[in-house]
Amino acid sequence: MPLRVFEVKTPSHTAFVDVTEKVRSFVREVGPKEGLCVVYVPHTTAAVFINEGADPSVVRDIAYKLDQLVEWNDPNYRHLEGNSAAHIKSAIIGNSRVIPVADGELLLGTWEAIFLAEFDGPRTRRLIVQVIPVI
Ligand code: ZN
Repeated sequence: MPLRVFEVKTPSHTAFVDVTEKVRSFVREVGPKEGLCVVYVPHTTAAVFINEGADPSVVRDIAYKLDQLVEWNDPNYRHLEGNSAAHIKSAIIGNSRVIPVADGELLLGTWEAIFLAEFDGPRTRRLIVQVIPVI
């Protein structure tokens, strides 16, 4: 099953990087006609999600609200590395998504984009994409 590991540089402490074209190009290059595309980040302070990519205000608002819900400093955090908020956000959002593939194309909605979510950057992250053929 085709698999590729991309390196994605995140530009700031919190950042949502649109990786849709990387994933779409990979699926077109190697993907089967019908299948499932798994997008995964092997990191505990990053995540992957799908949401509107047309208006950048949407992901800005998601970041804003996550910051409100999960404050960076909390005297009750125990994790000594000091980045508990990033771990919590990663756990809430999740580190993978599955997208159906039909006729060799990702079945994303018109306004949907795939984002690698950074919660403790800037860093270089790995993004693993695998396409599973469905017979
Ligand atoms: Zn940590």
